[in-house]
Amino acid sequence: MSEPPGEFQLIRALCRGLRNSRATLVGPGDDCAVLAVDGVKLLATVDSLVEDVHFKLDWFTPEKLGVRALTVNLSDVAAMGGDPTACVIDLALRDNLPERFAERLYRGLKSAAREAKVDIVGGNVTRAGQVMISISLLGRIRAGILERDNARPGYGIFVTGTLGDAALGWRILDGRLRAAGRTRRFLVQRYISPSARLSAGRALAELIPTPAAIDLSDGLAGDLRHILEASRVSAEVDAGLIPVSTAYRAVVGDDLELALSGGDDYELLFCMPERYSGDELSRRLGVRVTRIGRVMKRGSGLKIANLAKPPYAGALRGWDHLRQSS
Ligand SMILES: [Mg+2]
Repeated sequence: MSEPPGEFQLIRALCRGLRNSRATLVGPGDDCAVLAVDGVKLLATVDSLVEDVHFKLDWFTPEKLGVRALTVNLSDVAAMGGDPTACVIDLALRDNLPERFAERLYRGLKSAAREAKVDIVGGNVTRAGQVMISISLLGRIRAGILERDNARPGYGIFVTGTLGDAALGWRILDGRLRAAGRTRRFLVQRYISPSARLSAGRALAELIPTPAAIDLSDGLAGDLRHILEASRVSAEVDAGLIPVSTAYRAVVGDDLELALSGGDDYELLFCMPERYSGDELSRRLGVRVTRIGRVMKRGSGLKIANLAKPPYAGALRGWDHLRQSS
């Protein structure tokens, strides 16, 4: 039997032969689709959290799971530089859930929606073998569109926040790694309660030329590759510049494997002319920004310099939800 296709290979195969109308400004292959409707640029995206693929039920209160489900969608709108506006929610529920699970999940969804000024305008509930929360989110563009194909040779490569914390938090929760006290709380919280960088995305969308951007859901190496392939450029990242937290170092020292390949950061990765320093961008975006490398000439290779130990091959491929075993 042949091996099943990976997530991105399958998506490519499914999209083959699609013919969209001219109203579709950006189709499949970016963080959101962009549609032109009566002069307004609308964003549309969908994402799901599936029990035992993306989370274990006993790691979350239902409220926190609800907040996280909306946040991962908001992150895709942030990565386009847009404002989220409204969503519909498809909820699959199984037997033997904790009492009032759905009501408590919705309490989290409603509070996250209120905070992000998103209307919950509809939904669906169905029975299934596992819990799934699938959200279709709409948004709009007010300035530039942060597409993945805007990276040019000579641009700097930047990231917000610190990388790898959430991947460590996941491994602490499932017992693969150990940490205690504040370190443990910080890393677990980075996995359980990520934030969507909406205001940073909006600030980026006001810059000219418009940066190339993606949100880091599948790991730095894999997500940067998406930008490189879309922009048909190569890049060099300096491992010594990758921002990691004190808690990250406390658990794994200078092993950068999870900062490179761990998913669930929901930070923004973007490429733009090196006109501004990391400090200036941090001020403009309201979040810590670090320059980690440079876009090179044509091609789509990714070179990682100054890596103390060579990463395993999968680390550079990124996170693939179809091949993941846990
Ligand atoms: Mg994304």
